[in-house]
Amino acid sequence: MNAHTRRGFLQLAVGGATGAALWSSAALTTASWAKGDPLLATTLGEGLCLISGAGANVLAFRGSEGLLLVDGGLASRSTELLRLALKETGTKKLHTLFNTHWHPEQTGANTQAGKDGARIIAHENTRLWLTRKITTEALPAGYGPLPAKSLPNKSFYTKDSLDFGGEQFAYGHLGQAHTDGDLYVYLRNANLLVAGGVVSAAGWPVMDWQTGGWIGGLVGAYDRLLKIANDSTRIVPANGPVLTRKDLQTQRDMYFTIFDRLVKQLVKGQGPDEVVAMKPAKEFEAQWGDSDVFVKASFKSLWGHYAPDA
Ligand SMILES: [Zn+2]
Repeated sequence: MNAHTRRGFLQLAVGGATGAALWSSAALTTASWAKGDPLLATTLGEGLCLISGAGANVLAFRGSEGLLLVDGGLASRSTELLRLALKETGTKKLHTLFNTHWHPEQTGANTQAGKDGARIIAHENTRLWLTRKITTEALPAGYGPLPAKSLPNKSFYTKDSLDFGGEQFAYGHLGQAHTDGDLYVYLRNANLLVAGGVVSAAGWPVMDWQTGGWIGGLVGAYDRLLKIANDSTRIVPANGPVLTRKDLQTQRDMYFTIFDRLVKQLVKGQGPDEVVAMKPAKEFEAQWGDSDVFVKASFKSLWGHYAPDA
C-alpha cells in the first residue's frame, strides 16, 4: 500500500485502531499514527520536507540558523523525529518550533526544544493551556503541564511573520476552531500552507470543544484558510496527505452542512444522543468513517455559542 496516496492514508486511519494509546479509543482516527509506525519523510522542496508517522504531520525546513519545525509529533517519538528532521534537512540543531495548537501530537518535541534553547512559537491560548494539566473527554488521561522551559516562549494574539532561511513565514490565529489556539503557517515563497489541527485528511478530527473548539468556528477557520490559499497552494493538514485548495473547499462545505443540521436540531431542543442517532453526517461516512464521536462532540460544541431557546 502506498501511504502517499489519500486512499492509503484513509486505509491506515481505518485499519490502525489497535495503537490508540493516547486518546480514548473511540475518540479518533489520528490515533492510528501510534507508537511504532515508521516515520516517513517526503520532500516538498529544497531543504523542506514533510515527516509523517510521529502522531501528526511535521514540516521541517532548513535555515542557516538551524532547523525550523512546524509541529513536533508525540513526545514518545521526538528523539527519532528530530534525528530524521536534522538528517533530511542537513541541519545540526533545532532553532525554531511552531506549535499549531496544544495537543500532544503537536507539542511532543517541546521538551527537546526547551533543552536546545529553541524559539517556540504558539498562540497565547496554546501557551496558557500548556501551563496546566488538561483533561478532556477525548483525552481522559490528561496532558501537561509542560516544564517551564518547554513552554512557547514567543506567543502572539492575531498574526505575525518571520523571515527565516530565505523564506517568509506568515502565521496567524484561526480563532476558536479545533481548539481556541489554532494557528496556520504560510510559507510565501514555497506557496505552502500548514493548516495545523483545523484540517484533517485522515478521518474525522477531534472536535475539542472543552478547550475552545467548535464546529461553527471550524467552518470559519476554513474560510480564512481559503482566503490565504490559491489554486496552486499546497496545504499540509494535521494528518494525511498534502491537499489542494479544492480539497479544502470540499471539506469546508461538508463541515458547514453538518454544522447547519446540528444547529437546527439544537434549536428544536434535541440532545446529543438523539442527534447522533439521526446520523446527520451519514453521506460522508463512506469516505470519513463512522461519524458518531465527531457528531456528538460537534453538537456539544454548540452549547457555548447557541441557547436552544435563543
Ligand atoms: Zn489536535
